[in-house]
Amino acid sequence: MRAIARIPIPTATSAPTGATNAYVVGREGAALVDPAGRTAALDSAVEERSVEHLVLTHTHPDHVGAVADYATRSGVTVWAHARYRDRFERATGIEPDRTLTDGKSLVTGDEVRITVVETPGHAPDHLAFAVGSALLIGDLAMAEGSVLVGDDGDLSRYLASLDRLLALDPSRCYPGHGPPIEEPEPTLSRLIDHRRERERRVLAAVRSGCETVDAIVDSAYEKDLSGVEELAAQAVRAHLRKLASEGEIEWDGERVRVTANDD
Ligand SMILES: [Zn+2]
Repeated sequence: MRAIARIPIPTATSAPTGATNAYVVGREGAALVDPAGRTAALDSAVEERSVEHLVLTHTHPDHVGAVADYATRSGVTVWAHARYRDRFERATGIEPDRTLTDGKSLVTGDEVRITVVETPGHAPDHLAFAVGSALLIGDLAMAEGSVLVGDDGDLSRYLASLDRLLALDPSRCYPGHGPPIEEPEPTLSRLIDHRRERERRVLAAVRSGCETVDAIVDSAYEKDLSGVEELAAQAVRAHLRKLASEGEIEWDGERVRVTANDD
């Protein structure tokens, strides 16, 4: 039996896979990560590995659907990010038993150590989990495509979190959506480059006179966005918040303009 079991759960996610990965870590007294829904496959993994801990990478709706189902099993300790207990409770309806902070470890019944790596940005309460040389990375990256940093996200912190993952030099990453990432370095670097390139395009759009989010979406994305316009608009707003915080632009939530230059 492998220490880490990945169980894809069908969910109403905006990720193109149409599924969210739940993970069970450890072979006994195991930890359940992101129970996104209740399925027979997840039931049997939980049973077989006698789950004793429940943790989340973050509390977005496509990661939490069956927290209540599994949290109420006897002997399960529910852990939440120490600074986001209320958010956890609102998202899951479950009051956490204990809390997690950066660097804290859980140890499963078979001595698998799971160490918390705070990685905000995709969501404010996002955590990754180090298991040996591997990392469970939630929605920080996927093997294909990119993840959304939307209205509750923070792009500067997201990029810092990707840098933090790179510095840990993981042998393999287990994402919240899609297959394991066997070569993390090029995938994480690709995502950092992708955001920097998008930022250049957003800034170029503002400098060329685009004043609204819709106009910037039209200018900064060349692909056909039908069906995902709202996600693109969220992504552009995240870029605008970052650029405004860095003083590159001024944005009042409606109109965008380049910051006046005195010299
Ligand atoms: Zn998410």
